[in-house]
Amino acid sequence: MIPSPASSERFPRMMGEFDLIKTYFTRPTKRAVLGVGDDCALLALAPGMHLATSTDMLVEGRHFLSTVDPYRLGHKALAVNLSDLAACGARPLAFTLALALPSVDEKFLEGFSQGLLDLAQAHDCELIGGDTTRGPLNLCITVFGEVPAGQALLRSGARVGDDVYVSGALGDARLALEVLCGRLNLPSNGLELTRRALELPQPRVSLGMALRGLAHSAIDLSDGLLGDLHHVLLASGVGARLNVDAVPCSSLLQEQPIDWQHECTLAGGDDYELLFTAAPESAPAVQALAAAQGIPLTCIAQIIASERPGELRLHDKHGAKVVNQWHSFDHFAAVNT
Ligand SMILES: [Mg+2]
Repeated sequence: MIPSPASSERFPRMMGEFDLIKTYFTRPTKRAVLGVGDDCALLALAPGMHLATSTDMLVEGRHFLSTVDPYRLGHKALAVNLSDLAACGARPLAFTLALALPSVDEKFLEGFSQGLLDLAQAHDCELIGGDTTRGPLNLCITVFGEVPAGQALLRSGARVGDDVYVSGALGDARLALEVLCGRLNLPSNGLELTRRALELPQPRVSLGMALRGLAHSAIDLSDGLLGDLHHVLLASGVGARLNVDAVPCSSLLQEQPIDWQHECTLAGGDDYELLFTAAPESAPAVQALAAAQGIPLTCIAQIIASERPGELRLHDKHGAKVVNQWHSFDHFAAVNT
């Protein structure tokens, strides 16, 4: 273990670590037995519940641009973690935050903590602990949620014959990234719309909980549709047949050339929508759920038996075969933001 400097040296000649935590990250807890301030936080689980937990790290230059608004960064840091709980069908309970900062920038901390805590409040998810230190900007959040024993949605549950659905519309986050990186142009109102998809994703928490008992398998879309679907197929030992033209996208993306549409929707990443599979006879229940939640749920593929688990056959709206030329995002292979 790397020895850490005395806390007074972590942020020399500035607001101290403990003042920083107290000012920006300590709030009274309602659900946790014990929150920020002791050696451990304490959570009480209701009888019959399993603890669901997940960790996501965000590194400047790889997961976000240095120019991102601090409020939106705080929002997104928690949103990507809540999205993992949603994919499991878990209800959020609490989270911890590990934060490395180059210096104590109070303007940054004010915006960041506000974005983080606003989303936390919206999902009744409490900040119960963490750590801060001086270093290159790096955020790591661990979320905790609860799910009734035996009811968690897993990647491994897809069955042959299942329909494959995605929530919402895909590809806008990638579209925004292309514009921000100067590779594409959009009218300014279009940029702001797509930028919200990239910087303010809304985790599908209530949808995930409502899918318990209805979906056979689920995953959240973080690294690109085809790559994330592949995880489900591998874990379930099956294949899929997917209509690339059925993948839902925004009207802005529909105005782009078809190659761009496919690139953004199939391999874009950062969508934070849910992908799930369900029996064909559940189709009416799935559409009733879409209406109840006000979220489009679109069938884009069918699960097929395959001697090569993970096999993905792509076709277009006319049924013609489409060659898979897309690669999902790999955090070790390329610099992304
Ligand atoms: Mg995930």
